[in-house]
Amino acid sequence: MHELSIAMEIMDVVEKEAVGHGARRVKVIHLRIGDLSGVLIESLSFCFETIRGEKDLTKDAQLIIDRVPVRILCRPCESEFAGDGFLVRCPSCEGLDTELLQGDELSIAEIEVD
Ligand SMILES: [Zn+2]
Repeated sequence: MHELSIAMEIMDVVEKEAVGHGARRVKVIHLRIGDLSGVLIESLSFCFETIRGEKDLTKDAQLIIDRVPVRILCRPCESEFAGDGFLVRCPSCEGLDTELLQGDELSIAEIEVD
């Protein structure tokens, strides 16, 4: 049920934004979700579909999700590489002093309204 609470939180933010801008309806919600965010995108989409009809403002809203791949920086040698976790070894120098550049985001990138 993790994704349901996330979907509800997103809806809350979207509604406040839309109402604040005097919108009559929300057309599209763009999300950025990192591969390390722990969010199951299919499950989130399903929860979103389930709750969007509760309000006229959001009943026709489409959810567009941009998946953000994991990018990691190696501090000592400054090379950047793709990864699938927090603890990874640099492929160039085999160091472990790395930093996550992107991949843990869960944010609303854009809301299109009428
Ligand atoms: Zn390195």
